[in-house]
Amino acid sequence: MTATLLTGKEVADSIFKELTPLIKKLDPKLVIIQVGDDPASESYIKQKVKSCDAVGMRHDHVHLKTDVTKEELFAVIEKLNGDPDVTGFILQLPLPAHLASHVPLFLRAMEPKKDVDGFTAYNIGKTLISKEFEHLPPATPAGIIALLEFYGYGDVTGKEVVIVNHSNVVGKPLAVMLLNRNATVTVCHAATKDLGSHTRRADILISAVGKPKLITKDMVKPGAIVIDVGITRTKDGLVGDCDFEAVKEVASAITPVPGGVGPLTVASLIRNTVRAKQRQLES
Ligand code: NAP
Repeated sequence: MTATLLTGKEVADSIFKELTPLIKKLDPKLVIIQVGDDPASESYIKQKVKSCDAVGMRHDHVHLKTDVTKEELFAVIEKLNGDPDVTGFILQLPLPAHLASHVPLFLRAMEPKKDVDGFTAYNIGKTLISKEFEHLPPATPAGIIALLEFYGYGDVTGKEVVIVNHSNVVGKPLAVMLLNRNATVTVCHAATKDLGSHTRRADILISAVGKPKLITKDMVKPGAIVIDVGITRTKDGLVGDCDFEAVKEVASAITPVPGGVGPLTVASLIRNTVRAKQRQLES
């Protein structure tokens, strides 16, 4: 069997097509806060800016120096919270070492209505209630759900889904969003014993670790749908967590890296910014 390729660009384009007239009408504005010059962040920000330009969404980039103090960063967040022209803003992670342990406090300082990455406790908490309350869901999990829906795998009722990741930005909210859709969800992480015994049960296997070739062919159930979220920069370019060439022989569908989930994270961010504007106008 050779797996169908689930390319994110096609899905992102359909989301952008739907959003473009709304963006024209509502004129939302996204602001990206960057601290320092992390090369991966530079490249993610470039993609976000490129997509904003493509859909005609206003954007701004607040680029702070690496040694910015936490007080200065709080002041930037407060300013954006209070600026009526700013629909939403994101704090590009990771932060430099001296700020990294304060991330929960920076997120707590953000106005939830402007938290278009969906990282604040308020927005994560809302996703726990039910699908109907996923107003500003975390961008990567929302992108994965959009990908499954686009390719006809959106009905996950009763499916065994195994997620390899338990971070606050991917695994935990994704598990909740899949539970909201009645999947049976297993969440694995670094302390999970015998990872393969879990992944082999998966109808849908989602890996977001950042370890090339962590997921080998023998860890995948024949016919499974494999969503590879992991990104590792190698001398040959970006690679995911799956031993792609081998896994595609056993899976029924698989996302490539790059070009799989990545474009959908950006599309979800833009969709969240439009939703934020709609809700701000309503209130
Ligand atoms: P993270 O916070 O470092 O999470 C990594 C997760 O993998 C943790 O749950 C970790 O468990 C688990 N893990 C580590 N080694 C493992 C192993 N040997 N077996 C099983 N689980 C293991 O990172 P993140 O921010 O969630 O991102 C994860 C990956 O996804 C990265 O490669 C990142 O670049 C990528 N990503 C891609 C997108 C996209 O749009 N495509 C978006 C977000 C993230 P412990 O915490 O117990 O160590």
